[in-house]
Parts: sequence; C-alpha cells; structure tokens
Amino acid sequence: MTHPFLDLAPLSAARFASVEDRVARLLDTRQDVVITQGEALLPLEGAIRGTAGPGTTALNVITGPYGQTFGDWLRDCGATVIDLAVPFHTAVTAAQIREAFAAHPEIGFVSLVHAEAATGNTNPVAEIGEVVKEHGALFYLDAVASVGAEPVLPDAWGVDLCVIGAQKAMGGPAGVSAVSVSERAWAVMAANPGAPRRSYLSLLDWKQRWIDGGRTVLPHAPAQLEMLGLEACVARIEAEGLDTVMARHASAAAATRAGALALGGGLTPYVREARDAAPVATTLRTPPGVPASELVARALAADPALPLAAGGGALAGEMIRVNHYGAEATPGAVRGALVALGAALAERGADVDVLGALRAAENSWK
Ligand SMILES: *Cc1c(COP(=O)(O)O)cnc(C)c1O
Repeated sequence: MTHPFLDLAPLSAARFASVEDRVARLLDTRQDVVITQGEALLPLEGAIRGTAGPGTTALNVITGPYGQTFGDWLRDCGATVIDLAVPFHTAVTAAQIREAFAAHPEIGFVSLVHAEAATGNTNPVAEIGEVVKEHGALFYLDAVASVGAEPVLPDAWGVDLCVIGAQKAMGGPAGVSAVSVSERAWAVMAANPGAPRRSYLSLLDWKQRWIDGGRTVLPHAPAQLEMLGLEACVARIEAEGLDTVMARHASAAAATRAGALALGGGLTPYVREARDAAPVATTLRTPPGVPASELVARALAADPALPLAAGGGALAGEMIRVNHYGAEATPGAVRGALVALGAALAERGADVDVLGALRAAENSWK
C-alpha cells in the first residue's frame, strides 16, 4: 500500500541543489546557500562556531530571547562579547550600532536577530547593514522569523551569514533550515582553527564536500521528507508570489494591532511603535493583574485552533503572542484571535468593544 510519506525514493543531488537555488532566489542572493539538515538552531550555532574565536570581538545585539543564546555561543568560542540589549518593546537603531562601534572600534563581528517572533519586534537591518559595512565587520543575521513575512536581502544589506528556517512565515517544515554564506565568511571559517570540521555543526564540510565539488555528491543522506516539505513550501510561495505572502503578513500585523487598540479592556500593543512591530507576529500586553497565560488559556478553551500563545518564561505574565504567520496570516485568524481575546477579557469583567475591534481590523487589512 502506498503511503504519502513512507517508502520515499532517495532525494537526488540535483534535486537538493535545485531547492538550494530556489531558496537563494527567495533571498535574492548570489552567495552560497547551504540547506542544513536540522532545525534553524543548527546553522545558527554552526555559523557562530565557524567564524568566531578567541580573536573575535563581537557586538551581540539582544532584542529578544535568541540574542542571549548567540552571546553564550560566542563566549563559548572564546570571543570577547559586547552585549547591546534593548527593551523587547522596541527595536535597536542604526545609531545605537554606530555608537557601539565608536566605543569599541575593535568590533569585527555583529550578531543580530531580524524579526523576533517571540517578542514581536523587528530591527532595521538595511540601515544597520550600512553601519556594519562601513566598519568592515562580519554580519550575522537570524532571519528565521522574517523570511516570508518581510524582505530579507542578504546581498543588498551586506549580510555575511543569513540564517532562515521554513517553519514561520514560509509555512514549511521545522526540520530543515538554510544559511547563505558570503565569500568573506567562508574565508574567515577556513582560517579559523576552531571552526567545526568533520562535525554535524560544520558548514566548512558542506563547502568542501558539496559546494566545491560542484554539488554532485551529497555528503550524507538528506532528511528527504523535510526537503520535500521545504521544496513544496517554496513552490507555494513562488506560486502565490513572495510579495503577496509578505503583504498578507504585514496586513495581519496591522489588523491585529488596530483591532487590539480598538478592543480596549486594557489590552495594548506590546511593541510601542508600529514601525518596530514585526509582520510575523503581534505581541500584546495584558492589563495589570491579568496574567497573559490565563487569558490565553481561556481564549484557547473557546477555540484551540487559534494562533495564540503566552510569552515565554517571565513574559507569560504580561505578553500575549498572536502568531499570525504562514497559513494563519489571514483575516479570519486575526478576527478569531480578537473575538476570543475579547470574550476572555469580558469574562473577567473588562469593558471591551469586539465589534469595534473587528471593524478596525478590517479597515487596516491593506
Ligand atoms: C522561531 C525562531 C527560531 C527557531 O527557533 P525555535 O525555538 O525552534 O522556534 C530562531 N530564531 C528566531 C528569531 C525565531 O523566531
């Protein structure tokens, strides 16, 4: 009996290379794109361990939970790390990056998260890239939560290591990811005695055993099911049009923000300025004394399929995440989230305007 995901034929090298090429087109990049056989943490860690070492001074920008992890990896590699942390309700500015370079001209590496699905903010990478380029530092970007939701342009922005995953706005599988690598970044890795080699974390292995050989022989059996999932989600984005997919995400964010403001009941956008709010997900602050995890639990009890979550860790007390990405970047998902949150607030006795919220959401869906 045939089964949709068992007994699959092996994935050919040509097909693997064609998926890499399609991902490269999505990023409008001429850099090498390596599709890494694991969740995005694999290339995120591999890229840092490949390029950072005891001689590295790294500016690590923290605008959400991932920046903390990158700082830990950098320190573990022996790098000197300058942490630049900004509150999760805002974004880092190019001026802050410029100030950091002025205070520490020895910075040779910058790590940044583009959009933060976990905290709902997004950073101005194009402007920051200009500053990083002026100072000649290597630029590492986590674009997992931005790809598909807003432009991600490693070549135009001077990003040397751009990591993406398919599981957020691309609506794809979580078990594969990709990184685009500039010539400069390859050179840094090749010269780094601490860069992983003969290791699952090694990007250099892929360069030597796959790219330099003309991408004809795969170094090991790829995760074929995940590769097929990635191929399918890229094909779907190509068919819908990347711009259309991104516009859906921007509209979902604008509609959720406007709807929450009109809803009242003490719910407010967590990210204060709309320009700092990520298209991938909208975070909301609960009124004082109303635990976000409790409100989310009430809303999900009414409709378990809604893309709602409480913030992670300490943020569970005050942050609601509306994960309107991928298949959830629709007017229906936004409406559902607003109605359920309105009902949950009303159950607690809050004064909410659900119809007003729905109207505001509809009016701001572009
Ligand atoms: C989702 C996400 C990742 C991937 O990590 P998971 O913990 O597996 O979801 C990495 N970086 C960012 C910014 C993300 O939003």
